[in-house]
Amino acid sequence: MKKPLNTLSEPEMVEWLKSVGQPGYRSAQIFDWLYRKFASGPDEMKNLPSALKNALQENFVLTQCSVIKTQKADDGTSKMLLEFSDGECVESVIIPSKDRTTFCLSSQIGCPVGCFFCASGEGGFVRNLDASEILDEFFTCCRSIGRLPDNIVFMGTGEPLMNYSNLISALDIICGEKQVGMSPRRTTVSTSGFVPGIRKFADEGRPWNLAVSLHSPTDEGRARLIPDKHRYPIHEICEACRYYFKVTGRIVTFEYALIKGLNDSHDDVLKLAEIVSSCSAKVNLIPFNAVEKSGFSRPDRSKIIEFESTLRSNRIPVTVRIEKGDNINAACGQLRVSHLKKEGK
Ligand code: SF4
Repeated sequence: MKKPLNTLSEPEMVEWLKSVGQPGYRSAQIFDWLYRKFASGPDEMKNLPSALKNALQENFVLTQCSVIKTQKADDGTSKMLLEFSDGECVESVIIPSKDRTTFCLSSQIGCPVGCFFCASGEGGFVRNLDASEILDEFFTCCRSIGRLPDNIVFMGTGEPLMNYSNLISALDIICGEKQVGMSPRRTTVSTSGFVPGIRKFADEGRPWNLAVSLHSPTDEGRARLIPDKHRYPIHEICEACRYYFKVTGRIVTFEYALIKGLNDSHDDVLKLAEIVSSCSAKVNLIPFNAVEKSGFSRPDRSKIIEFESTLRSNRIPVTVRIEKGDNINAACGQLRVSHLKKEGK
């Protein structure tokens, strides 16, 4: 079976080059094509001899996913549906703003957590993406904009910390100085609050950013949003976040999807402020992006502003996520779900 090329280490590449009678220095050229020029096949690697291009083609898989659908919003946000060789799909979103471009990447096909408000949970968990598929997703986005992004966030489909080793292998290549070379500080992993994963991620000792989807300041409130199986008590999540901050020095972000009548009361905001300050964290408020049949809706604008200003008056650093891709089903998982429905899967 052919191996993926994008996860090959330098010693493995040099060894393989030796086995096909090619000099070791070709390794740097191949990686340059893969990691800096986002080549999708050996044909594009212009400075390689034909014999080496043929050998690469025969021995390795270079691209494993293809873009089967793209939606572009009026604000420039584009969402791609990527299909892998087994016919399974994930979504990736490219989000441009005034001074930067962010990729929102998926880590799994379907999601084992199955939050009640999220389209990604619909249809259940299918499988993990392996490291080379995650990289392929990343490079497909790079090809689409012709350069590296300024930021990447693992906030698409899946619970990244439940696909731990593949995530870390992909991040090591994306942030490896000799590989893609993105700053770890521009890389964010978002978790639903998977405590063992947060602790393990802290122990990597790398300055990656961690975002935790809290969504309610009470365990009862979270129970209305996240199924029991993978929901951890808030006090355990907070301990893990304090540990993350202590080990990595990175301030944790609590993601908070504001949902009308569920987590937007004055009592909620005061409790949230208490939790966040106990973790030296910050808050990213996300006015809820309605998902078909979820039964949840977004609070009025005045309520969102009031919630934000109460956090600020309690000295909590807070940002409000600006609406992006509003006219293209930009909430996570919606494009894949509509594709599955169309295909009758
Ligand atoms: S919100 Fe995240 S963790 Fe929850 S079901 Fe969606 S993708 Fe999974």
